[in-house]
This record gives sequence, structure tokens and C-alpha cells, in this order.
Amino acid sequence: MRENHFDRRAVLASTTALAAAALMPGGASAQDTARGTAAPQSDALPARGEFVVRGAHVLTMDPNLGDLATGDVHVRDGAIAAVGVAVGAPGAEVIDGKGMICMPGFVDTHWHHWTTLLRPVMQADDPKRTYFPVTFALGLHYAPEDSYRSVRLGLAQALAAGVTTTHNWAHNVRSPAHADAEVRAMRESGLRGRFAYGPALGMANDQMMDFADIARLKKEIGSDPMLTLGINSRNVDGNLGGTRGAIDPAMAKKEWSAARELGLPITLHTSGSGAIKLLNEAGLLGPDLQLVHPLNTDAADWAALAKHDVRYSVSPLGEAGRSGEMQFPEIMQAGVKVSLSIDNVTAERCDCFACMRMLQTINRHRTGGKFKLTTRKLVEMATIDGAEDLGFADRTGSLTPGKRADLILVRTDEPHMGDIGDPYDALVQLAQPSDVDTVVVDGRILRRNGAFTALDYGKLLADAAQSVAALKTKANWS
Ligand SMILES: [Zn+2]
Repeated sequence: MRENHFDRRAVLASTTALAAAALMPGGASAQDTARGTAAPQSDALPARGEFVVRGAHVLTMDPNLGDLATGDVHVRDGAIAAVGVAVGAPGAEVIDGKGMICMPGFVDTHWHHWTTLLRPVMQADDPKRTYFPVTFALGLHYAPEDSYRSVRLGLAQALAAGVTTTHNWAHNVRSPAHADAEVRAMRESGLRGRFAYGPALGMANDQMMDFADIARLKKEIGSDPMLTLGINSRNVDGNLGGTRGAIDPAMAKKEWSAARELGLPITLHTSGSGAIKLLNEAGLLGPDLQLVHPLNTDAADWAALAKHDVRYSVSPLGEAGRSGEMQFPEIMQAGVKVSLSIDNVTAERCDCFACMRMLQTINRHRTGGKFKLTTRKLVEMATIDGAEDLGFADRTGSLTPGKRADLILVRTDEPHMGDIGDPYDALVQLAQPSDVDTVVVDGRILRRNGAFTALDYGKLLADAAQSVAALKTKANWS
């Protein structure tokens, strides 16, 4: 894996002025430091520089701007200043984009970052060591520091794969300190994201989530352009209640009303039939609701979702291994907006390219291509559609001047890419995470030449290993 090539960091720092500048500490803006806890406490984030990407194949994902076969993107003060051919940017550092696709960073819309560090305990062919038993048995013993380390590790993996915005679906918030730990990890990572505050694993189904603390955190986050707050709800249908809890519509009404009073969006796992009907009957569907895993629903469900402007997040890599049909074609055809998610990197991989390709494959397999799903639409689902789902479309998801600069450069010169032809086709059919050369979030260059510019990935891994060892001891895991 390229991120393990620590020697490349040193080479990079000594040969590239921009990277050298990026490695300098003190990158937090006055706005960051004024927020107190927003200031990074470990790896200092690189400064927001001024730079221009020149000569890239630019996919803006903005229908008004279109694409440029050879174009420039000028970034200043964390924002996209200009996109065009031969953009004038005197004094700006030049990043050579030749042979690269420049596009918005990927937007993930559902990811349980707290489970990341449990990866070494997993084994796909041993039923006792798959995702649910492992995350439940060890998750019950998490200290806040374990949550922090896991989220840091997950976000590092996200960055390396070109994900610049994530929906941190925290369904093991064991105390206010655990919530704070996850939020701190998000802030220190430099990614943009929503923190979906959830229950603690193993919590009694008749116990309400801690809305006093959720209100406290909402106040603490305030109007941060990098970080927003929502809640994640326990399942309402009862079908998957064994390890994650299941609540009845009355409890859902109580919790969701409390969230809505705070103006917080809601997200919910909904594999299986029944939940959408229950929610619809209880009057709980709305545009502030995101559902996850569209499997085993029916036409009445799709109509209700479209009517109430509910969003769906599909996690293609995991869902393809579940029983039942992946129904995103029907759901999209019904007018429901669908975005992409990684879900977890405990059982799956962080690979948005593979997610797009899987959707294309499943669509062909299930509909024989009757549902038209273009490669451009797949890239939209992985970028601007995700930004819309999370309420971030005003600042990310497309390379639109005035939006914040969340972009990636994807190399096209590796042998597996060949002569790429159409760039959307190449992104879906050929590209892989190791092709992501450069990752910029909010104008900060967090990855360059396929390496972290400031983050010490080796330390994150070592810390995670320490946590896993302690968790295994606490849980008597052999
Ligand atoms: Zn999930």
C-alpha cells in the first residue's frame, strides 16, 4: 500500500516547495483556533495554500460548467477561485495535472468509522469473526480513546482513497466522552463530514438516546462549515434487532421528534420489509430522513419515499453480499435520490471506484440495462448527489467557483488504465484507490504524490493495534 511508503514523504518534503510548505505546522486558521476544540491537537493540518492545478482533464460535476479536456483549477483561501482554460493565477504554486483527472472528492454518505480498528479481528470465512459478532463483542468495551483512534484510522483510509466528505454513522456512542472523541477525530483529520450521534451498543430498547448531550454537542459544534450534526436511529422494523437494538414506532416518534426539535437530520438502517410502512403510518417520513440499504422493499415503499423526499444511501460492496435484491434502479426510477456509501472498512474496502462499478454490474445483472445508469450518473452519485444528501451541496460536491476546494487528482498513467478513453468510463471501469494522487479538502493538501503530507499513518496504526489488544483482553476474546 502506498501510504506505507514513509520514505516518500521525506523525498517529497525535500524536493517540493509546496509539500514543504504543507508540512509546516500552524495550518489552522484563526477561525479554527477561535473555536477551541476545533484546533488540531496531534498532526497539525497543512496550511491552506494558493495553488493552481494545470493541464488536467477537469470534471467539474457542475452542469453549468461542464468538463474541460485540458483545464486549470485555481484554489485560494480554501475555496475554488476559478476553473477554465489557461486560468491566470500569478504567484500561485503550480501543480502539474497532466495525465490526471481533476474532480470533486468523493462524498460518502454512511460509514461506521468506530469499527475501523477491529479489522485485524475479522475473518470472512469464520462465522464467529464476521462484522456483527466482532463489532458487538468488542464494541461493548470501547473507551473514548478507542473511538477516537478508530475514527482517525478510518478517516485516514478515506483520505487515501479520495473521500473528502463522510457521514460518520456513530452507532456506539457509549457516553458524552465517546461522542467528543469521535468529533475530535473528525476535526483533526481535516475531512468534511456529518457526525450522526447514535445510541450505545447494547442499550435497552426502551431507553431513550441522550438528547441532553446531543443538544450540548449541537451547541458546541455551532455553525462549522466542516462539521455538522445529525442522529442515527435504531432499527424500527425489529428485523435486525439482535445486536443493534430495535425500537417501536412510539419510541421512534419520541426520539425523532426530539431530533427534529433540534433541527437535526435523521438516518436509519432499513434492510427488510415493513419499516418504511411503519414509518409512513406514523407520519415520520420527511426530507430530513436518510435511509440506508435499499433491499427487500416494495413499490408502495418507493412511492412513499418519493412523496416525502426521503433519501437513500446504498453501500454496494456490502449489500451485494446480502440476501435479497438491491433495488436502487427501482428506487431511482420512482424519483428517490440515491447516494453512495462505504459502510465500514472492517468487512469491506474503501473503494468508491469499486462501489460505482458494482452498481453498474448489479444494474446490468438485475435489469439487463433497462434502467439507464450512465457512468456520469454513477460519478454524480459518488460526489454531488452525496453532498446534496448530507446538506453540503452549497460548499462541496462539484468544482464550482465559490465552493470550498474539496478535490482529487486521479492518475491515469498506470498500466491498468491503458489509454483511458472517456474519463467517466475509466473512473468506473478501470480506476482504483491507488490511482488517487492528490487529495485536497477545504484548500488543504492532505495527500500528494500518493502520500500523506502531514499525517503519521504509522502512529495511527500502532495506536489502533494497542486499542485492539486491550479490547480483546476486556472482552475475553481469543
Ligand atoms: Zn450501516
